Amino acid sequence: MTSESRGMWIGGEHVVADRWIESFDPATEEVIGRVPAGGAAQVDRAVAAAKAAFDDWRYLAANDRAELLHEAYARSMAHHGELVELLTREQGKPRPEQEEEAEWALTSLRYYAELGRNGLGRVVPSAEPRTQLNLVLKEPYGVVGAIVPWNYPLLLLGWKLAPALAAGNTVVVKPSELTSLVTLEWIERCFDHFPPGVVNVVTGSGAEAGEALVRHPDVRVVAMTGSVATGQRIASVAAPLMKHLHLELGGKDAFVVAPDAELEPAADALAYSALLNSGQVCTSSERVFVPAARREEFAEALTAKVGELRLGHGLDAGTDLGPLADAAFRDKVDAHVRDAVDRGARVLTGGQRPDRRGWFYEPTVLVDVDDDMVIMTEETFGPTIPVATYDGFDEVIDRVNASELGLGATLRSSDPLLIKRFYERVKAGTVWINDPLTDNYAGPFGGMKMTGGGRELGPEGLETFLETKHVHWDF
Ligand code: NAD
Repeated sequence: MTSESRGMWIGGEHVVADRWIESFDPATEEVIGRVPAGGAAQVDRAVAAAKAAFDDWRYLAANDRAELLHEAYARSMAHHGELVELLTREQGKPRPEQEEEAEWALTSLRYYAELGRNGLGRVVPSAEPRTQLNLVLKEPYGVVGAIVPWNYPLLLLGWKLAPALAAGNTVVVKPSELTSLVTLEWIERCFDHFPPGVVNVVTGSGAEAGEALVRHPDVRVVAMTGSVATGQRIASVAAPLMKHLHLELGGKDAFVVAPDAELEPAADALAYSALLNSGQVCTSSERVFVPAARREEFAEALTAKVGELRLGHGLDAGTDLGPLADAAFRDKVDAHVRDAVDRGARVLTGGQRPDRRGWFYEPTVLVDVDDDMVIMTEETFGPTIPVATYDGFDEVIDRVNASELGLGATLRSSDPLLIKRFYERVKAGTVWINDPLTDNYAGPFGGMKMTGGGRELGPEGLETFLETKHVHWDF
């Protein structure tokens, strides 16, 4: 693929800056394109375009907004093959996984197009019903700043963009530096029938373009998915400005095998939930707890499964696992494995960088793991499966809750009493019983504790982009 330069997308026009950011194929380490390194000047221009477009967009009939979102879906489907190919090159995971991501991103356009038609708000009883009317209105905020990470660049953008637009807001998107090409490709090809300024993309670093967007006085909502450290930084900038913050941050999800669970299917489910996207999923199973008496049997089933997986370029048929998205991420995974091994963990399979080009890491199973090893406390975001053991069910629930993060948790069991105890007591935004990592458009997704309190999907995902106003009308 030839390397290409792209402009940002502001007010329906391509805009460049005087500096560039290169984008890489993580499986080959080759530069595949470049995007402008925008900063405060481009953010000002994009926010001004979004602000100018807001009034007309807000007062467009909800049905007309819905039709434009459906048209974006149709254009995206027509352009699906090219989008998936670029997504695979720039982000790295295998093509079938990218197709699934694209489907989730695109379906969110249709889901929120329909949800937006219904409107929200209510009439509440008045103290003097003959002469008073009390209305609760749900209004768009105005300009939304949508800040997106690289691991699911289209899906996580779709989950913000579709409800924000359906609710009547205009949007300035700041994609990750690692996946800006595919973001621009999607927006400029599939949203250019929207009135200019309704959707804008400013590329650039988090510290410059991202922070300028958070600081901008005309941006009333910042919807951001990313790491806890970035979320904390954004919160510290936004708090004195009283912005509405919607933060979807990191995870350290637990996967618990109950004493009654069948081991073979549990091992299959775990291999999926720990290794999807090479473990670069916020809801990856990163802490595994197995009954002590069943550890050997479980580790054997898991290792057989993981040992079969093939690393490769995401566009090659037969690839099970792609690379990490960046060399630094691969080095962090290796550091977590080295720390565990130095402190007594045993590697059953994997445990190193393969001898090949690209930012790959072997899928890795570790046993003899303690809860205080770095691989059990910090987000690894890689293809690693650390397996710890437990003796009692209440004990394991306490250990699941010991993490400061609370995004998701999985239990494998058929015992209704254990299942109920688990979902009631675990502090996590999503609890999966038996089938990890499945989402549902109608069910909200987000975290508890240090993962931030934002919710996407479902009606909650639309509410995120609506502000409440009470009208007391005395006549
Ligand atoms: P990151 O925090 O490094 O970056 C996320 C985005 O924030 C990027 O666009 C980046 O440019 C921007 N940014 C960085 N500094 C900024 C600043 N000071 N002001 C404004 N914007 C700034 O995260 P990442 O490495 O891109 O993504 C991986 C992280 O995202 C992981 O921690 C993962 O768990 C998390 N994540 C969470 C969810 C969820 O739904 N909870 C989903 C996917 C990923």
